[in-house]
Amino acid sequence: MITTTPEHSQDLKELRALQEHLLHLSRHDQDTGLLNHDALLNAMDNELAKPAGQSSSAAFIEIRIGGLSSIGDVYGRKTIGSVIRQIADRLVQSPVKDRIIGRIDHKSFGIFLTQVSDPLVALQTAKQFIAVCTQPLLWGDVKLNVEAVAGVALTSETAGDSATLLHHASLAIRESDENGGPGYSFFNPESAEAAKRRNDLIAIITKAVDQKLFTLAYQPFFDLDNGALLGFEALMRLNLAETGVIHPGEFILIAEEIGLISKLGAWAVEEACSTAARWPSHLIVAVNFSAAQFHTGTLLAEVNLALERTGFAAYRLEVEITEGTILKNQELVLAQLNSLRDMGCSIALDDFGTGYSSLSYLWQFPFSKLKIDRSFIHALDSTPKAPGILRSIMDLSKNLGLKVTAEGIETVEQMRVLRNLHCDYVQGFLFGRPAVGADVDTIILKNYSEPLRAEAPEDLTAKANLHKAKIIR
Ligand code: C2E
Ligand code: CA
Ligand code: CA
Repeated sequence: MITTTPEHSQDLKELRALQEHLLHLSRHDQDTGLLNHDALLNAMDNELAKPAGQSSSAAFIEIRIGGLSSIGDVYGRKTIGSVIRQIADRLVQSPVKDRIIGRIDHKSFGIFLTQVSDPLVALQTAKQFIAVCTQPLLWGDVKLNVEAVAGVALTSETAGDSATLLHHASLAIRESDENGGPGYSFFNPESAEAAKRRNDLIAIITKAVDQKLFTLAYQPFFDLDNGALLGFEALMRLNLAETGVIHPGEFILIAEEIGLISKLGAWAVEEACSTAARWPSHLIVAVNFSAAQFHTGTLLAEVNLALERTGFAAYRLEVEITEGTILKNQELVLAQLNSLRDMGCSIALDDFGTGYSSLSYLWQFPFSKLKIDRSFIHALDSTPKAPGILRSIMDLSKNLGLKVTAEGIETVEQMRVLRNLHCDYVQGFLFGRPAVGADVDTIILKNYSEPLRAEAPEDLTAKANLHKAKIIR
């Protein structure tokens, strides 16, 4: 039998007190005294493991506080701690029953409502919490204001554990943010699917950039007047065995969002120059550039390096940008476009007509070419006004000394209209789809022996059929 002396039992008491203190520390957030992230999840899982009540379910609300960093910038970091503590106190004091409150991270709180009979009550509660958080806070004599948004996930919608509830609530916040909603919303399973696809794509694109799994396809464009092949537009492709084709519309956007477009763009320009360096020297290559590439400060160096490494002449490289690129930061983009032009590259304004089409861009920027968006060409089939609009664009371009390419020409009839309007250049499935490898060489060779003849549209179609490149869209 073990006997304890009074000193022993004193030691044991202290040890237990210390253990409890450590346990408390490990489960609570030091700033606010609330449950910390892990402890909140644990507590939720314990609740979720209990048999469900008759007609009630549970709901999780994430409250995210905004504006903290500006407060920190103005009043110092200490203020943020005080603000967070005040908000935590208010959340704890708010008269909401059957709830477990915790701190999820430096700017988010989580509230688990264990008994919710009606989903709308959960949403109403989220709204109340937002109101509580956004009441002015005090820092000395100064009144401070924060913003708050909330996402709500219901256990009736979200089968699974506490981590899934947290994830869904944060997706609800993101959705509400993106849609500029009232600042609180339910998790929507459909947007979760979209978010999952997006996450998968991010992983795929990150890997593909790292391992250089992208390829370029080349779509020919021609002089409408004499049918001569002028060059090709490089169009990026991603086609992996495990995913199938992923369209540029999708992967370019994501690469932009996750900050990889610059690396990808630098690869594209070098790859395009390296391929085009093997073509006859009168042919040019057009490469698409994203707005983000103009913001890294490395674009000019990258283009220079690509030209140097491939021995490709700058005058054979055409840079395609859209109006969106200009809008983001006119000065910055203009300076770099001027440098590219000074290096010898030509600059084309892509998708003309879909954006603001502001006249001032047209004369202030060093464009040599406008590419009329294919929606205008397709409008020829259905809109009586379309030829008139196209004529105005042609007149305007002529007055500004710009050449015009019509994109997306699919029918002989569309081509005829454009020829009557004296459009300079043409590009579209009628003349050739984006092609790869030997199919590009075939297009070049065919055009050498027999350029497209614009005077006889029927011949042109026959010729275009001859040009039928491997379809890889
Ligand atoms: P874009 O620059 O306007 O390229 C033309 C798009 O129209 C290409 O789609 C091309 O395949 C398609 N197209 C060409 N002729 C026809 C036609 O007659 N009919 C129809 N319906 N479509 C035609 P794609 O390759 O899917 O590219 C879509 C967009 O993705 C491009 O539009 C461009 O904005 C972007 N993109 C493609 N490659 C790159 C790249 O290397 N860098 C950047 N930043 N963006 C790229
Ligand atoms: Ca383009
Ligand atoms: Ca275009």
